[in-house]
Amino acid sequence: MHVEVRGLNKKFGNFQAVQDVNFSIDKGQLIGLLGPSGGGKTSILRMLAGLESVDEGHIYFHGKRVNDLPPQERGIGFVFQNYALFKHMMVTENIAFGLEVKKWPKAKIRERVAELVELTGLTGFEKRYPHQLSGGQRQRVAFARALAPEPQLLLLDEPFAAIDAKIRQELRSWLRDMIDRLGITSIFVTHDQDEAIEVADEIMIINQGRLEQKGTPWDIYKNPETPFVAGFIGESTIIEDIGSLRGFETARIWPDTKALIRPEYVEIGQAREFTALSATELGRVGHLHFRGSEWLVEVEVAGSRLVTYRSLEKEVLHPGDFVHVLVHRAYLFNDNDSWIMENN
Ligand code: ATP
Repeated sequence: MHVEVRGLNKKFGNFQAVQDVNFSIDKGQLIGLLGPSGGGKTSILRMLAGLESVDEGHIYFHGKRVNDLPPQERGIGFVFQNYALFKHMMVTENIAFGLEVKKWPKAKIRERVAELVELTGLTGFEKRYPHQLSGGQRQRVAFARALAPEPQLLLLDEPFAAIDAKIRQELRSWLRDMIDRLGITSIFVTHDQDEAIEVADEIMIINQGRLEQKGTPWDIYKNPETPFVAGFIGESTIIEDIGSLRGFETARIWPDTKALIRPEYVEIGQAREFTALSATELGRVGHLHFRGSEWLVEVEVAGSRLVTYRSLEKEVLHPGDFVHVLVHRAYLFNDNDSWIMENN
């Protein structure tokens, strides 16, 4: 289902939890709402669901305004992080619950439940109660229950937060697969950037009640529109005085401009590793973090601390080593604007 949100606002008392949020979502897309705790993600989701009233603004499903529709008439499925399964009901009863409420005929309920048990890989677990299931299985029951009444929009609030890392990884790919197969428009809340980047077609970065940016993970990483987005997605360091870095001296003409530097645009090494040594400047290696496939290296240069990656094949560096540093590119920001500056 196509979702459109215009001028959405929500206050709790005097606190503005959601502020002038606008977006639209195409049918079949999987959207990640990503941002720090307290940013307003859940509030947006709850307004879409009809679980929270809208102060100002409009929500349209399929072009129809749904602000005043109760949750059960919005055609949505909801999955929470803490499963919220009925403890005294077995798997099939949990899945059937919404259908019973809607008074589906018994035979049709049986058929639909069987379909969902199969779809969510719960065959063999039909008669188990929630306490007899693993966290991942419980969450799949929650999905099956949400999907049973054939919703046109699936809302997921931190669906994997309570599940340990390995199973969470499996569930992510499983979710991606399932959404592709069903073609159901879905929105999930997460504060885990890896999760959002891996699973979502598009990410919406929510911070302090505002939508900072919406785009594909790649687009948001490559072209962050605000310092917050740039700092939130991917590794980076912010430096106050970009003009002190060799190759960026001209940035001094913009006072109060900060720079964000991503590791992949910082090159470090011994003198012999550089062809144009004159373009480099001296830095000193700080902490080294082993990342399995490479090192993440901190380096002090011109009074700033940058981070970069270094391949395992290259000569090993040690804290305190002097190295040559070449910064290729920086994102510059001031109060009014943001732009990319290349080393000249
Ligand atoms: P988290 O990742 O921690 O769940 P979030 O981005 O989902 O955060 P929300 O749950 O939407 O954020 O909350 C946004 C802000 O609104 C928070 O500061 C929260 O304390 C406040 N808030 C949410 N619900 C209520 C409520 N019912 N009454 C008062 N304040 C609320």
